[in-house]
Amino acid sequence: MTVKTRFAPSPTGYLHVGGARTALYSWLFAKSQGGEFVLRIEDTDLERNSQEAVDAILEGMQWLGLEWNEGPYFQTQRFDRYNEMVDKLLAEDKAYKCYASKELLDEVRAEQEANKEMPRYDADHPKIKAVNEAAKEGDPCVIRFRNPKSGSVVFDDQIRGRIEISNSQMDDLIIRRTDGSPTYNFCVVVDDWDMGITHVIRGEDHINNTPRQINIYEALGAPVPTFAHCAMILGDDGAKLSKRHGAVSVMQYRDMGYLPVALNNYLVRLGWSHGDQEIFSQQEMINLFSLNAISKSASAFNTDKLLWLNNHYIKTSEPEYVAEHLQWHLDQKGINKNNGPVITEVIKLVGERCNTLVELADQIAYFYHDFDAFDADAAKKHLRGVAKEPLELALAKVEALSEWTTENLHQVIADVCTELEIGMGKIGMPLRVAVTGGGQSPSVDAVMQLIGKERVVARIKMALAFIAEREANAQ
Ligand code: GLU
Repeated sequence: MTVKTRFAPSPTGYLHVGGARTALYSWLFAKSQGGEFVLRIEDTDLERNSQEAVDAILEGMQWLGLEWNEGPYFQTQRFDRYNEMVDKLLAEDKAYKCYASKELLDEVRAEQEANKEMPRYDADHPKIKAVNEAAKEGDPCVIRFRNPKSGSVVFDDQIRGRIEISNSQMDDLIIRRTDGSPTYNFCVVVDDWDMGITHVIRGEDHINNTPRQINIYEALGAPVPTFAHCAMILGDDGAKLSKRHGAVSVMQYRDMGYLPVALNNYLVRLGWSHGDQEIFSQQEMINLFSLNAISKSASAFNTDKLLWLNNHYIKTSEPEYVAEHLQWHLDQKGINKNNGPVITEVIKLVGERCNTLVELADQIAYFYHDFDAFDADAAKKHLRGVAKEPLELALAKVEALSEWTTENLHQVIADVCTELEIGMGKIGMPLRVAVTGGGQSPSVDAVMQLIGKERVVARIKMALAFIAEREANAQ
């Protein structure tokens, strides 16, 4: 039997990290079993759903690289099928029409509460029975599923273990509303059956639906899939992760400069483990993933760890991969990568210093665009009168260089130190501020090599002009 999993978001907003983790687990489980992964959009709640949300979910899934083998299916396009199945259950007397009005149901409920009984729909309540018997064909009604009255539903949740719920705790669920629309729990079952889903991996907020759904599978004569309900994600304060903890939308993580591999690695560990291992390549995740290693208890989101992983992946990923994801940030900041050195070379040099792609984009701007002012603090400290002579000598040597290599530039700096009998800092820092505009960069010889001779020469001249002006003003 081919394993088939699905991710079934309701398009009420962006793809949030909780949903993304569920999607990742479903995707990983399918991959780990050589199976297939289905994307289904549960868009039956017309008031709360929007096309924008559908687009945002697809964008998030694509950005994370969670490719689906089938879909996206849309529940709103499958109403005929759901209704066909409602009619089948009706014909088999596994469902029935109920004509009780809302007022009557409220009245019965109040009565049950007064009698300290569990408030529930009771088809055998004399008042409800009377209404249903008196109704005529064509009167407005809902269709209710005839839930078994005795026994219990038992299932082996792959994460939480064996779960047993007595049928006496479940009432006859509405499967078609008065307006003819099928209801959520029913649609999910028909979909999972039709789509051949073997493993339903979803959030534990759905665990109460599962026994009801299992009864519907059985009534339809459909095989019951295996279930795995994942625990919640909490914020750092122990409350359920929400907007007030900061970013919750996957695309916000793109905006903040995370790599999808880092977010995936972070999310897989958030509730799943393989010993103490923290770093998993995608292939490793696929090879090692198993449902029973998912934690039963809630996990807390830890931004520091995510940052650490992001730095790891910026440092160790193929620079082409980093470049692909950096592009969006370059566009945001108006940095044109064609206006300077090959971006992958710059990434190799600067990447390891950065925790996010936002930082990386900020730190490489000077390779591609000239600046019209030096960082004020760095200039104040390093572009002073004492730097004039070393910078002039460096300029002359740089201009005279015939081969523009990091080694030769390194030698230029060493020669300036020897000839002027100064320490490295006396030329290194002024040169760094001159060519990068600021006080922080990787090794300045390598930086100059990538920036290129023309720009380096012009920038040292700009630094010298700055020093001259400063000296003039001081007099
Ligand atoms: N549409 C549901 C949700 O977004 C998921 C239902 C399911 O996975 O069965 O929470």
